Amino acid sequence: MTISTTGRPAGFAVHNPATGAVIGEAPNMTAADLDRAVARARAAQPGWAAASDDQRAEVCRALAALLTDHSEELARLLTQEQGKPLNGLGSRWEIGGAAAWAGYTAGLSLPPKVLQDDAAGRVELHRKPVGVVGSITPWNFPVLIAIWHIVPALRVGNTVVMKPSPLTPLAALRFVELASAVLPAGVLTIVTGDDRAVNLGAEMSSHPGIDKIVFTGSIATGRQVMRSAAGTLKRLTLELGGNDAGIVLPDADPGLIAEGLFWGAFINNGQTCAALKRLYVHDDIHDQVCEALVEYTRNIPVGDGMDEASILGPLQNRMQFDVVSGLVASAANRGQVLLGGKPGEGLFFPPTLIAGLANGDPLVDREQFGPALPIIRYTDIAGAVAAANDNPNGLGGSVWSSDPDAARALALQLECGSVWINKHGAVQPNAPFGGVKSSGMGVQFAEEGLAENTVAQVVFG
Ligand code: NAD
Repeated sequence: MTISTTGRPAGFAVHNPATGAVIGEAPNMTAADLDRAVARARAAQPGWAAASDDQRAEVCRALAALLTDHSEELARLLTQEQGKPLNGLGSRWEIGGAAAWAGYTAGLSLPPKVLQDDAAGRVELHRKPVGVVGSITPWNFPVLIAIWHIVPALRVGNTVVMKPSPLTPLAALRFVELASAVLPAGVLTIVTGDDRAVNLGAEMSSHPGIDKIVFTGSIATGRQVMRSAAGTLKRLTLELGGNDAGIVLPDADPGLIAEGLFWGAFINNGQTCAALKRLYVHDDIHDQVCEALVEYTRNIPVGDGMDEASILGPLQNRMQFDVVSGLVASAANRGQVLLGGKPGEGLFFPPTLIAGLANGDPLVDREQFGPALPIIRYTDIAGAVAAANDNPNGLGGSVWSSDPDAARALALQLECGSVWINKHGAVQPNAPFGGVKSSGMGVQFAEEGLAENTVAQVVFG
């Protein structure tokens, strides 16, 4: 399967991480191409903002329908460029989630609000589009995250210029091609590049024709976006890295929680911002939790994502593979490898469980973004909370217990944007999602996320 360069002189190759084969090519655009895309988006924006709220909702519903109608095609493309399996919580699940998000977001709105209407006067709050929104996305969920950025922005009258990761541009390119059938010209434009001669994300972040950036990616790049955006004082929504902690209380049932712990840690091979990255387990049940997790994890099939039997695929890229391999090899000198631990062929790395580690170990402290779960024994719950919070990241966290009230009380002590009880990482379109501390600023989803794509105007009568 090949996506052509649509007549452009140079394209860059996209590889299948399972096989190393080139599966397509994407246009290697220049700063001048970006200028043209932004000019188209600016020209289209007033007309799009002037469409009725219902018309825009209808178009967003049509985008959801496109995702559903083309789900298998998009899922197969996504598996080939990203590596995640078709099955399990893989690419079919991602495309289905994207359709569900688009459909739900179509039904949201921010009508004008009367804040006051009395003898002293009338005060109305109106929400207006920001203008042109630039979307910059990572390689781990290339379609779902793009939909999280695009649909709320479009829903409230912005036009969008989007830029996928150079590692995974193909499903996004195909989605935009499909979307052109239902969107007016210029309302959604995609730019792609290999980040070598020109870094389009950096160009977008400083571009005077872009009013807001919604960025999902690493903390380091998020900082660069913020610096580049300062010159034009762009609005920003930043969804950055995580290093989520889970705390297993002594009353949890190891057999019952093993499956949830596995998926919390290993969804998308751990290449997930809000995955379980550090597991603190009470001494009373530490060994039973380790045994139950090993038992569940050892039966998970790892292979080429196009194979219907695979539940985990390869890592997405060499850089990620090297980071994970290095951190795991070093941690193995200090802890006990319970499962996995040694790199496989190509970019395959088996799900890895390592006990006997503590805060201060790089595998615990850093966002390793791969299929490795360090397990940390604790005796004192307050100490476990302090260790969980002793990290610059603050995206998600979880508490595992048979007592929901105790778990809820502890959840409120964790310094993160989302906390789950007896599960980890589940997000939904009616609940705001975002990080605290270095994990980002602002939220996505629900009315709160929609509002981030607007500016407030208050009319005092
Ligand atoms: P990355 O920061 O390397 O790249 C993200 C995007 O930024 C890519 O499109 C890249 O081309 C672009 N980019 C590169 N340099 C840029 C610059 N100077 N200015 C603007 N854009 C630039 O991240 P990645 O490796 O693609 O993704 C993994 C990271 O994303 C992890 O840290 C993960 O936690 C994070 N992430 C966060 C969330 C969340 O919702 N919080 C979700 C998914 C991924």
